Amino acid sequence: MINDLRVKLENVKQRIERAANRSGRTASDVTLVAVSKTVNIETVNRAYELGICDFGENRCADLHTKQETLPGARWHMIGRLQTNKVKDIVGKAWLIHSLDRWNLAEELDKRGSLLDMDVPALLQVNISGEEQKAGIDQGDVAEFLDSAGQLKKVKIWGFMTIAPLLEDGEQARPVFQELAQLKKKHSDKKYANVDLKYLSMGMSQDFEVAIEEGANIVRVGGAIFS
Ligand SMILES: *Cc1c(COP(=O)(O)O)cnc(C)c1O
Repeated sequence: MINDLRVKLENVKQRIERAANRSGRTASDVTLVAVSKTVNIETVNRAYELGICDFGENRCADLHTKQETLPGARWHMIGRLQTNKVKDIVGKAWLIHSLDRWNLAEELDKRGSLLDMDVPALLQVNISGEEQKAGIDQGDVAEFLDSAGQLKKVKIWGFMTIAPLLEDGEQARPVFQELAQLKKKHSDKKYANVDLKYLSMGMSQDFEVAIEEGANIVRVGGAIFS
């Protein structure tokens, strides 16, 4: 088992490195978030011992318990976040990838203010326009970033998107290109509480394509843990 995990991790890391090289970068420019939502804490611990320090969870309760067991890792909230779970996540998640509506930003800000801690988050953008997908519309991004100046503790560190599940990762390329364009477009502007340093895009089936298009955070589950 441990060897198996080691082999899969090595394989994913190599593929990240090659894709980074193809985009004129190195592996160290890309953060691998190992999405551990399907595995238990023992497996997380093994991955941590093998050098992985970023883990992603899509449920608050799981992130909360795993974070308490392994506080030395950086925990990423990647799933839809209900407003009433905000209290469980602020101070536990190193980065929230799924900020997808203004009232969630306000709730995160309240909690951050109460605990007097910054709450770094990525704006989740629904590039593909699929109705069932979370995320704000591209057309609403500018207004959201403008409004971020009203917040005290929430800091917008970039964008996240989920590409539609297609037969072939290559087909997701236009989605990644659009998110990269969006980052470029807004990076020159000065928004308070906004520092667009991260692009979180790419999963097991398409992370190499995402890196080629500029991703510097990839969220990989199955290719490591299944
Ligand atoms: C589960 C999940 C992933 C990882 O998906 P894999 O296909 O297992 O790599 C990435 N991002 C989000 C938001 C997820 O929910």
